[in-house]
Amino acid sequence: MVCPYRENTMSLEKYRSKRDFARTPEPDGEKGSPPLQGGLPARFVIQKHHARTLHYDLRLEEGGVLKSWAVPKGPSLDPADKRLAVAVEDHPLEYGDFEGSIPEGEYGAGRVIVWDRGTFEPAGEGEPFAEMLERGAANIRICGEKLRGGFALVRTRWGGRADNWLLIKEKDGYARPGYDVTAEEPLSVLSGRDVDEVE
Ligand code: MN
Repeated sequence: MVCPYRENTMSLEKYRSKRDFARTPEPDGEKGSPPLQGGLPARFVIQKHHARTLHYDLRLEEGGVLKSWAVPKGPSLDPADKRLAVAVEDHPLEYGDFEGSIPEGEYGAGRVIVWDRGTFEPAGEGEPFAEMLERGAANIRICGEKLRGGFALVRTRWGGRADNWLLIKEKDGYARPGYDVTAEEPLSVLSGRDVDEVE
């Protein structure tokens, strides 16, 4: 039996194959990190990543890893915004604490801050988050410092690409139509720095 809250090393092969841990300060995921409260609510993290282009990386704990999506325009609290979220390789749980500078020439070279973090849980009829992802439609409730309330993550397969999803704020008490959360709240929730202030 596979314990879902142990580090899922199989799923980190792609993550490790892209990186040289002698050169990048990113975690290799060997050490593992304990799950939050042994399960749900699970970890939610958004990192702001100034690589070749500035983007935001959404990470949601599932099965002992952080399921990850690159969100070019970042998340929004306005339900009218449908933000493209491109599924990328699973990351180790301890990546959720990573802020730093990835050296020139390495995968994802550039700077990273923890823009928001907290917990999330699947919303709805008790369907496990893993099955929602499998199905390509996940409704979750986020409890972060900047993002709160219901969000939908929907696979679109736009352009025939299975990795294209949309991240959409649901209409609830935490929705803020017209508010630009990434512009108004640019700094790290861990260090108070903006992404280009990272050493
Ligand atoms: Mn990234």
